[in-house]
Amino acid sequence: FERKKILVLGAGYAGLQTVAKLQKLLSHQDADITLINKDEYHYEATWLHETAAGTIDWEEGVYPINKVIDTQKVVFVPAEVTAIDKEAQQVETTQGTFDYDILVVALGFESETFGIEGMQEHAHSLVNPQTALAARQEIERNFAKYKQSNDDKDISILVGGAGFTGIEFLGELVESIPELCERHGIDYNKVKLTCVEAAPKMLPMFPENLVDYAMQYLKDRGVNFMVGTPIVAANENGFVVEVDGEKRQLEASSIIWTAGVRGNRLMDESFDGVKRGRIIVNADLRIEGYDNIYAIGDVAAVMNGEESRPWPTTAQIAMQLGEHTAKNIQLSLKGEKLEEFSYNDRGTVCSLGSKDGIGLVMGREIKGRKAAFMKRVIDSRAIFKIGGPMLAVSKGKML
Ligand code: NAD
Repeated sequence: FERKKILVLGAGYAGLQTVAKLQKLLSHQDADITLINKDEYHYEATWLHETAAGTIDWEEGVYPINKVIDTQKVVFVPAEVTAIDKEAQQVETTQGTFDYDILVVALGFESETFGIEGMQEHAHSLVNPQTALAARQEIERNFAKYKQSNDDKDISILVGGAGFTGIEFLGELVESIPELCERHGIDYNKVKLTCVEAAPKMLPMFPENLVDYAMQYLKDRGVNFMVGTPIVAANENGFVVEVDGEKRQLEASSIIWTAGVRGNRLMDESFDGVKRGRIIVNADLRIEGYDNIYAIGDVAAVMNGEESRPWPTTAQIAMQLGEHTAKNIQLSLKGEKLEEFSYNDRGTVCSLGSKDGIGLVMGREIKGRKAAFMKRVIDSRAIFKIGGPMLAVSKGKML
């Protein structure tokens, strides 16, 4: 009996949940488990809008990976993955080459600008704690500048995209910007918060009355929505949009792009048939043609059999994929048949700051404080599931 080498790439929700479950299911004798991640910490990707708006400090949304792994069973290597060699069964990183018998690819998401001119250079995005913090600092710098400049552009914020990220970010902004204004002696009524969305409707997964509620909540607090308005470029003055076939410049010193995500670019280089960094996986979460490679989280397109389209890339699904992968690895080590993944939808909440929100939980519509409470439950549960009760006490949002 030979101990297998299990290599997990990425310590986001999918990868870290895989490791957390593997270390429970397997004994030290069963396998060598190695986890590789660029940073020494895991970050709560679902809290980035809070960091970006300044309602939490970035440190609140991160914790050291070593805190949640059992170092008797798992070796953690902080390194950046640079290449995956499927034939040699090796992964190259900035800290050397690693062999594997079983590979779990969970390398997460990046911003997708769809090649829109100037977006990469001029807009901020919310993809990791650094970019979220940079967005916050940009807003704070521009508001501070306004005293001297008296230029309305400096107290104008443009948010591109009204998906979950855009709406949740706006929900935080209407909470934090009034405070920022107070600090700088700025009249909040002068601040321009504009959300630009290409589609005619936002958040199509929610019933209309909940979407209306969310929009009204944000409008009441000063957000201006431009729907059915695609952003076609970004520059130092803001976004360029297209209205009735004509280009129009929207002015703002702070511009944030929340209108697209894609899987890690390394996927495109490493596998065939990858679209926007995502690869379609089999029902047991392995990559077709490679019975020792799993792809999960934002780099995977896991098909929803009933609707023949992939499940959305959410933290909730990523964690379930991680747990399932750990179980399948255990089955494979025992020489048993792997199981097909099935998603257990526990509900979705879109927060509107810390006190409000909308959601669909167990088939029921919720809004207001109830939704905000559910969001805290969801955020805390993710921490508990990966890190256990001690971490939930220090990092959770229930206390
Ligand atoms: P998204 O892709 O879901 O939304 C992007 C939005 O931007 C869309 O509404 C799209 O129409 C719009 N858009 C695209 N191109 C545009 C353009 N050129 N001009 C203007 N608008 C444009 O992205 P997201 O909101 O970051 O979400 C990513 C994933 O993460 C999704 O699967 C989402 O479900 C998940 N997520 C979930 C939660 C939650 O459950 N609370 C929170 C955040 C993200």
